[in-house]
Amino acid sequence: MEEMFGDLDELFAQCRFADCAHQAEPGCAVQQALAEGALDPRRWASYLKLQRELAALNRKHDAAARRAYQREWHQKVMSADRGQRAVERYKHDQAEERSGRGAKRRKR
Ligand SMILES: [Zn+2]
Repeated sequence: MEEMFGDLDELFAQCRFADCAHQAEPGCAVQQALAEGALDPRRWASYLKLQRELAALNRKHDAAARRAYQREWHQKVMSADRGQRAVERYKHDQAEERSGRGAKRRKR
């Protein structure tokens, strides 16, 4: 794809803004090239079509990736929570042991 539209990549690099959407942005090299006839509008249209198709494909992938990510994230949070609770319980036990040692001895 980069090879197919390598010259477009060069145009994108000339856009004023790095995040240029190449629609109606000021200083857009693509729009300028289209206006000057340096870029074939049909080629630009086919590029946009490809981008739309790729975006649609990505969205489909993303839906699955998002679910997997959410599942993983949820598990991480759950295990982190368990880990944190274990640490707190440990600290609590340690503190109780320290403060309660004397009392226990006295009782016994
Ligand atoms: Zn642009």
